[in-house]
Amino acid sequence: MKSPEILIVGAGVIGLSCALRLGQRGRRVRVLERGECGRESSWAGAGIIEYGSLARLDPLAQLRRASCELYPAFIAEIQAASGVDPELDREGTIDLITDANQAKAADRELGALKSRFSNRGPLIERLTQGGLRRVAPAISDAFDDALWLRADVTVRNPRIMRALRGACEAAGVEIVEQSPVSSVLRDGDRVVGLQLADRVERGEQYLISGGSWSSQLDPEFERLLPVHPVRGQIILLEERRQLLRHVVRHGRMYLVPRRDGRMLLGSTEEHDAGFEKRTTLGAAARLMPIAERVVPSLRDATIVTTWAGLRPGSKDGKPYLGPIPGFGGAWAATGHYRSGLTLAPITAELIAAAMTGGTPRFDLAPFAPGRRFGPPDEGDTGEIAP
Ligand SMILES: Cc1cc2nc3c(=O)[nH]c(=O)nc-3n(C[C@H](O)[C@H](O)[C@H](O)COP(=O)(O)OP(=O)(O)OC[C@H]3O[C@@H](n4cnc5c(N)ncnc54)[C@H](O)[C@@H]3O)c2cc1C
Repeated sequence: MKSPEILIVGAGVIGLSCALRLGQRGRRVRVLERGECGRESSWAGAGIIEYGSLARLDPLAQLRRASCELYPAFIAEIQAASGVDPELDREGTIDLITDANQAKAADRELGALKSRFSNRGPLIERLTQGGLRRVAPAISDAFDDALWLRADVTVRNPRIMRALRGACEAAGVEIVEQSPVSSVLRDGDRVVGLQLADRVERGEQYLISGGSWSSQLDPEFERLLPVHPVRGQIILLEERRQLLRHVVRHGRMYLVPRRDGRMLLGSTEEHDAGFEKRTTLGAAARLMPIAERVVPSLRDATIVTTWAGLRPGSKDGKPYLGPIPGFGGAWAATGHYRSGLTLAPITAELIAAAMTGGTPRFDLAPFAPGRRFGPPDEGDTGEIAP
């Protein structure tokens, strides 16, 4: 490649999705990846593309819905370009209702469906005992109320990452692995290069999409785009019978069936584990009994393996999208926390528009790096402890 116009730090789902859209806009794009392409959080996640609450109107909820609307076409596009099938499944999520607060929230969702989304086709449905048995007979009959989130889809993480890589290469994007960037070089308030161990890489514009490690690239990023790792552990199960077709959620615990009979059991949210991608006995001891209570036949399932990944957490639950103040020519697309897979298509569309002088169709101000931080929009407090 001739010298790149745009240098991207990080080949996760966010860096690669942005690279794809920028490459398609005719820009010469090089992605610098510290390790192997797509092997961090984007590989470790559960692959639930979550439409989210219909009752919420805040900017993040709107972005999430817009991204979900883009998903089927996005997957079809990268599958056609790469020949890799990311296994998009459209069965939706069965969210078990286990207390009065959840029942009230379900009523609000159904109210929002009627008042604002009546033209959208099937989005959510209340399932009481008979309906729940019919749709998901493997769920214990101790549960008799659920919301079926029909707009949720799932993809298989390693496959979407391979498909994205193939699509990027087809669009002329250059991906350079084993290339850790150690810092951002500035002359005054303009970025003039990226420092690597053995060289400096220069472009006209820069995009920081290094997931949980993004704020390590410059001391000022701790203030402008503070990202902290939130560890999530997953247990991979295998069962001879196909017990579930849908994602099933009980509070923070979820089961995600895959086409080959395997099933993910997730996940913890650990804010104090730092950068240690370990799996722990404590996490398994919390997750497994809930899974067995929800789907009793899982007691015979085989534990295939466990893994952990680091979600890029932000201060207020919203990603950082936009120009980085005081770092002219540099942009951020990071801090997507629990929803990076879900938000990848819309992130890529908005960032590519903004970086090429267009007008993004959503206002990026609520996501601006260096913004004043309010409380999280998503109320992410209930956790499964490690
Ligand atoms: C257990 C778990 C379950 C999840 N489930 C879901 C889900 O169901 N749905 C959903 O939407 N999201 C889910 N997520 C969240 C989602 O995985 C993340 O939000 C998303 O992967 C973030 O993508 P990213 O590209 O920003 O980060 P990453 O995938 O972590 O990619 C960042 C990349 O940057 C590279 N990098 C970092 N620093 C440097 C450097 N200095 N130089 C060069 N390269 C660098 C890293 O090596 C890495 O490859 C889950 C996450 C976990 C851990």
